[in-house]
Amino acid sequence: MVAVTACEYHPGVVSTAAERREQLKQVYLEASACTRCALAETRTTVVFGAGNADADLMFVGEAPGANEDKQGLPFVGQAGRLLDRLLAEIGLERGDVFIANVLKCRPPGNRDPRPQEIEACRDYLHRQVELIEPRVICTLGNFSTKLLRGDPTGISRLHGQAEVHVLGHRAVRLFPIYHPAAALYTPSMLETLRADFARLPELLAMEPPPQPEVMEPVPEIEPEAAFPPDGVPAPADADPIGSPAAAAEEPPVSVDQLGLFE
Ligand code: URA
Repeated sequence: MVAVTACEYHPGVVSTAAERREQLKQVYLEASACTRCALAETRTTVVFGAGNADADLMFVGEAPGANEDKQGLPFVGQAGRLLDRLLAEIGLERGDVFIANVLKCRPPGNRDPRPQEIEACRDYLHRQVELIEPRVICTLGNFSTKLLRGDPTGISRLHGQAEVHVLGHRAVRLFPIYHPAAALYTPSMLETLRADFARLPELLAMEPPPQPEVMEPVPEIEPEAAFPPDGVPAPADADPIGSPAAAAEEPPVSVDQLGLFE
């Protein structure tokens, strides 16, 4: 059976999973030549994201690290191996999900993403969400949680609590969890992450959230609201971990970028 869905922008027009996948490839091609921010000057490869273009479950991390920048794939270092292990524990593998990041290019030295970079990049993430149509988006750590919730509340207060949010024109269940890199060296955090992961099958089995009836554009999230500029104090529960991407160090592997989508 071919899955068809109403096109969000043109109600009455339906798009098949194959059409959405083709459109996602176009977004990938656009992103891979992106010069919207200064990270274009320092990156090696744009890390668009990878996985099943029709996935029910999407993960959104922070930004590529050194290995991801070399290989053009998300989560290929130590944090990625932990993500693979946690997926396997709930009976899933990478090909079942789609993995992306807030930023598609590596910040030099794995520093934190800056508000203007998040702003320049967020349209790609929104288009990924619109085209993949996940039921559940697992935000990994503070950056993706704050961006997609449009709120500066930190991950330590929110992890493990699913909430329905309208992103662009779609309602989706957001499920914030700790970033796997944060859990690599903190056993108690790993246990919390594992317990949160164990809830994913139940969330995926739920009916999808009802979609908004009115095709009104939803106000864009302002990165400045979620990420206060320098000098403005971070919320008390801001994640103590700096840049999770820093945890990953792996040798380069070449990939065919257009083979990213299954
Ligand atoms: N950390 C991230 O947030 N994303 C990656 O792709 C790798 C490490």
